[in-house]
Amino acid sequence: MTDTPSYLFYQSRNPRPFLDHGEGIYLIDESGKRYIDGSSGAMVSNIGHSNPRVLAKMKAQMDKATFGYRLHFRTHPSEDLAAKTVAMTPDGLDRVFFVSGGSEAVESAVKLARQYALTQGHNARYKVISRFPSYHGCTFGALDLTGYAPLRDPFAPMMSEMPKVAAPTTYLDRDNLTEEARGLKYADLLRDKILAEGPDTVLAFIMEPVGGASTGALVAPDSYYGRIREICDEFGVLLIYDEVMTGAGRTGRFLAAEHWGITPDIVSMSKGFGAGYAPLGAMVAGRRLVDPVLDAGGFAHGFTYAGNPLACAAGLAVLEEMEAHDLIGNAARMGDVLMSELRALMDRYPFIGDVRGKGLLTAFEFASDRTTMEPLDPALNAHDRLVELAYERGLIIYSRRTRGGTKGDHFLVAPPLIITEHQIAEMMAILRDALDAFASEIGL
Ligand code: PLP
Repeated sequence: MTDTPSYLFYQSRNPRPFLDHGEGIYLIDESGKRYIDGSSGAMVSNIGHSNPRVLAKMKAQMDKATFGYRLHFRTHPSEDLAAKTVAMTPDGLDRVFFVSGGSEAVESAVKLARQYALTQGHNARYKVISRFPSYHGCTFGALDLTGYAPLRDPFAPMMSEMPKVAAPTTYLDRDNLTEEARGLKYADLLRDKILAEGPDTVLAFIMEPVGGASTGALVAPDSYYGRIREICDEFGVLLIYDEVMTGAGRTGRFLAAEHWGITPDIVSMSKGFGAGYAPLGAMVAGRRLVDPVLDAGGFAHGFTYAGNPLACAAGLAVLEEMEAHDLIGNAARMGDVLMSELRALMDRYPFIGDVRGKGLLTAFEFASDRTTMEPLDPALNAHDRLVELAYERGLIIYSRRTRGGTKGDHFLVAPPLIITEHQIAEMMAILRDALDAFASEIGL
C-alpha cells in the first residue's frame, strides 16, 4: 500500500495494494500477502496466472513481431487461433473476427447482424432485443443492450433505447409452475415483445446463456433455451449468445450453448479467451451470414489492434493449454464440487437465499427471508462488506447489487479452471470465515 496519490482514476471502492505477481490460482501483493483469485479477476484468468508454457509461446512471438496490421499481412497466430476456435465451437460457427475485448465483441456481433439483414433486403430490421437485468458492455452500442441501471442511467439521454424482456429470474418466482413451464413462460416474453415491436423491425435477440455480473450466474430452466431458438427462427430474428464471460470453458463446455445443444447465429467471446494474457476477444458466426456480407462489399467494421499476432499467440497458447490439461473437463468436475460446497453454506447461514451457476461460474445471493427473497437492508452494503472481509483474509470474490443494480447482493465465485479439490477446500475455509465475520457484524 502507498500514500502516494495515483494519477489513475479507476473506480475502486477501497484502497488496494500493489500487485507483485501471480502463481496459478494465487495472486501475491508487494508485501508478500497471498490471495486466492476466487473470481479469476473479473472471470478472466481461466488458466490461472503466470503459466510458463503460455509465457514462453508469447515470448517466442514477441521475438518475431508484436504487431503486423491485419490489412497488410496474414499472420500464423491469428490464422491458427481462428482455426482452433472454429474446431472447438459447434458446427455452423466457422468464421471468426478478432477484437480486443468484450464490448467490442458484442458490438461486432450486432453490426454483423445488421449488415447481413441489409444483404437480405431487411432494411427495416434494426432493433436488438435484450434482457433486464443483463450486462453486455459499457461502450455506447453495448450499453444500449445492457440492463444494469447504475452504468446506464447517467447516459440515458444519449442512448438509443433497445427493447428489453425480463431475464428468467425464476428463483424469485413464487408461482405454482414447474421449472419447465417457467422456462417457457419467460421465453414467450420474447415472442410477445417481437410481436409488439413488429417482427419486421427486429434484427436480433442477445442473451448471456448463463448470466454474469448483473444477474449472478443465473441459469434458466432447460426449456427456455430451445424455445428461444424456436421463437427467433419463427420470426427470422438472429440469435446472439453473449459468451464473453461463459465462453472458453468457464461453464464446463467450450461454449455454454453446448449444454443445451443450441447453435446461436453469432457468438461473442472475450475474458477467458485471452485469459488475462492478452486483451483479446472474438466474434464467431457462420458462413451463411458472413459470405453475403463479404460479397456485398465487406464488413464495415474493425479495430486497429484486432487480430494482432501477440494477442493471438497468447490466445492460441491458452486454448492449447486448456486442451492439453482438459481444463474444460476440470471446470465441469470442480464446478460440481464447488456447487455442493456452496449449497452447504445455506445450512449454516440463514441470510444466503439462493445458490446457482454452471461449471465454475457460480454465485450465491443474500436475502433477509428465503421464502420471499427480500434483500438484506441496503444500508448494510453487504455486497461490499463481504468482499472486504474475504479480501482481508486472502480471498478475492466478485460482487454486485442484484436486480439490475438496484437492490440485493450477489457474489460470484469463479476460480481459475485449473483449481483442485484441495484448493476449493482452502477457498471455502476462507469464505466461511468471512461469512462468520459478516454474520456477527450484522448480528445473525
Ligand atoms: N458481455 C458480458 C457478458 C460481460 O460479462 C462483459 C464484461 O463483464 C462484457 C460483455 C464487456 O466486456 P469488456 O469489459 O471486456 O468490454
